[in-house]
Amino acid sequence: MASDFYALATPGIQGLHPYQPGKPVEELERELGITNSIKLASNENPLGPSQQAMDAAAASLKDACRYPDASGFRLKQVLSERYGFAPETITLGNGSNDVLDLIGRTFVLPGDEVIYSEFSFVVYMLVAQSLGAKAVVTPALNWGHDLDAMAAAVTDKTRVIYLANPNNPTGTYFSAEALSAFMAKVPESVVVVLDEAYAEYVTEADYGSGLKLLGEFANLIVTRTFSKAYGLAALRMGYAVANAQITDLLNRIRQPFNVNVPALAAATAVLDDSAYLLRSVSNNTAGMAQLEQGFAKLGLNWIPSVGNFITVDCGQNATSLYDALLLEGVIVRPVANYRMPNHLRVTIGLPDENSRCLEAFAKVLKK
Ligand SMILES: *Cc1c(COP(=O)(O)O)cnc(C)c1O
Repeated sequence: MASDFYALATPGIQGLHPYQPGKPVEELERELGITNSIKLASNENPLGPSQQAMDAAAASLKDACRYPDASGFRLKQVLSERYGFAPETITLGNGSNDVLDLIGRTFVLPGDEVIYSEFSFVVYMLVAQSLGAKAVVTPALNWGHDLDAMAAAVTDKTRVIYLANPNNPTGTYFSAEALSAFMAKVPESVVVVLDEAYAEYVTEADYGSGLKLLGEFANLIVTRTFSKAYGLAALRMGYAVANAQITDLLNRIRQPFNVNVPALAAATAVLDDSAYLLRSVSNNTAGMAQLEQGFAKLGLNWIPSVGNFITVDCGQNATSLYDALLLEGVIVRPVANYRMPNHLRVTIGLPDENSRCLEAFAKVLKK
């Protein structure tokens, strides 16, 4: 090869590091010589998918020879009935990660500023970096977003602010009141992206979705996903809700067929399966309590979480504990890439998975 293609890439892309995917569970089991491992690493829904969603996805395959409905007409209609926002305010994405990326590409030029918090979801950094933007990372407050610092970081170069509520990997949240106060401080020319991937799990009374504020703040975009409480991570379906102008812009750069036929069918069906959502949330609430009690018994501290995961302070560098847990067949998530080397993030599982996880922690901590 005569050319250095790395040198030909845009500076933003040159600075990116490739995503480090975890090994497939089967491969890991083969390498470690273990079986029956449990995966509590990716905040996936432990219930398995909704039967109604699976049936709808399977039935949709008879149309697999045809392109999907590029407008997502039916799904948008159901979302609109469910939540009350108009179809022309919805942008469908191949997972909400897709729309998080589309938003950056719509509003951010190289050199522009993008604000997000320390310890917030890695995709915001990836979007800013890939676009050659200047990432303005505000220090966290008690592991969560310092909204005052974020508002104060706005300059005339700021184009987009990414907020996660609840946040991953910390599980922290901010109140409806704090969100309103923040929005009131941010100039309308700055787009605020509120990532609500875990909103369905939150039971705290002072939490409020940004969906309620869309009428009041034209610069607000709320993103949601079917990957977590709705249990469809594999199918890749998420969406943004925003004013009609922003939605029109996002739909201009969205690939017309970015969401596929089984995903559209399954997402439409699962919205009707309210029993599934209830089970997701009640399993999560009970599992969170189970893990908190277990970790307390083990003398471990954790970051209070309102998501479907809990991030535990191992009180030491967590790498060797992570490896030891793997040998016990318990796969959790190191978060050293978030500069949290002593923490491990554990997804809430089924009751017996949580028990196994706690037993494994007890065992490896003794060593
Ligand atoms: C899991 C997660 C998402 C969901 O991503 P999808 O692309 O919809 O699967 C979005 N934001 C945060 C903070 C997440 O943790």
